[in-house]
Amino acid sequence: MKIDGRGRLYLCATPIGNLQDITLRAIETLRRVDLVAAEDTRRTRKLFSRHDIHTPMMSYREENRLKAGHKVIECLEGGGDVALVSDAGVPGISDPGTHLVSMCLERDIEVEALPGPNAALTALVISGLPTGRFIFEGFLPRKKGPRCRALEELQEEERTMVFYESPARIARTLADIEDVLGDRRVALARELTKKFEEVIRGNVSGVRERIGEEPVRGELVLVVEGSTGERGVTEEEALGEVERLRSSGMSLKDAVSAVAVKGSGLSRSKIYNLALKRLG
Ligand code: SAM
Repeated sequence: MKIDGRGRLYLCATPIGNLQDITLRAIETLRRVDLVAAEDTRRTRKLFSRHDIHTPMMSYREENRLKAGHKVIECLEGGGDVALVSDAGVPGISDPGTHLVSMCLERDIEVEALPGPNAALTALVISGLPTGRFIFEGFLPRKKGPRCRALEELQEEERTMVFYESPARIARTLADIEDVLGDRRVALARELTKKFEEVIRGNVSGVRERIGEEPVRGELVLVVEGSTGERGVTEEEALGEVERLRSSGMSLKDAVSAVAVKGSGLSRSKIYNLALKRLG
């Protein structure tokens, strides 16, 4: 029953691979609403044909979110119910869904979430890393400089970290993680819930060796261990070791690498920056 004659926006979680991972309520809602706003209409059409859904669909994606958003609002204000689906998983997580939610809330239009599959949580729970406290970072910046700066901000983060990453960038991202965060434990989850699902667990260096330099295939979630304060040495001890190695003739770069690789628990870039500050 419509309280003010206006419709309601339903955020419908959809499968992240296996088309059977959809709730009964989501199927019923997708069949019942007047309009479905979909991030990837081709992908959603496959889901619809699998579950016998015939509701009219429109495209709602980053590139058209303003214009499409107004169209959705028009439907809602006219009394129609609308379901929002992202390309996969929970709408509003790493997709433009949050904008539509804000547009509705600004107009006092009701928004309801239908929970379901999500790639980040699915990867986290099978990562083998602590799940008690975690953070979701979405996609890291594409360019190396901003990506390394984003990672530097996470150097002291003790909670398990979850990232989305593209197959084309994963090798470079893992290299930056090893450099900035150190040789932490990670889990790289690929093609979750799909035929070629795989989870590669190990230290960053080991996972890098496993995947090589070639782009990895499929969709990826990377789960990274948080900083473990008790492991390794203090910054002072690491600097002392760098100075000792340098006085025995090693270059600063080699000394920093040697201390980082020896399992100081501090990343190469962190020790390098500390050493530069000390020298300067
Ligand atoms: N809204 C989605 C959710 O709730 O998980 C995420 C959308 S985001 C645009 C897409 C990213 O999620 C992909 O690039 C990938 O990093 C991750 N992803 C989605 N499906 C996945 C799967 N089956 N296996 C691994 N990662 C997946």
